[in-house]
Amino acid sequence: MRKAIYPGSFDPITIGHIDIIERLAPHFDELIVLVSVSSAKSEMFTVEERKSLIQQSLKSNKVANVKVESHQGLTIDFCRKVGAKVIIRGLRAVIDFEYETSMANINRKLAPDIETMLAFASPEYYFISSRGVKEVAINGGPLVGLVPTFVAEALQKKIQAKR
Ligand code: ADP
Repeated sequence: MRKAIYPGSFDPITIGHIDIIERLAPHFDELIVLVSVSSAKSEMFTVEERKSLIQQSLKSNKVANVKVESHQGLTIDFCRKVGAKVIIRGLRAVIDFEYETSMANINRKLAPDIETMLAFASPEYYFISSRGVKEVAINGGPLVGLVPTFVAEALQKKIQAKR
């Protein structure tokens, strides 16, 4: 079975992430979107909230083979646990390149049998980041075209609750 992992913070999931999932899922038997549990970052949504927003985004039949899970620790350890041989990451601008190259090479050193595959962001979504989306939301800007409606609502609720 060809299994791939798409790891990230997904805080929250954006239209850019959904585009990568929908484009890449058909190339594998199973794609697991992995919410990485990080103690280093201050996240807006809890792991369970992030998973739930991802689940709600997976409504199209292009993604019938996509699962959502979370993991604390190394992505390669999760890959080994589930028998996945491919890690997918998205590449937006040049700024992503250095970080992704470094991560891919560290992972290759730790697990030479697991391959990182980079998918280019679609030109219409290359500027979208979870961080940018949160900035727009915090400052009351429109989120249309950046995240699905239910993610925009969840962001607005979260921001209201924090005020
Ligand atoms: P991380 O904190 O691990 O970078 P993110 O949730 O920000 O997690 O992103 C997960 C992956 O999705 C990363 O590989 C990132 O480059 C990619 N990504 C983020 N936004 C987009 C986008 N708009 N288009 C394509 N890929 C994206």
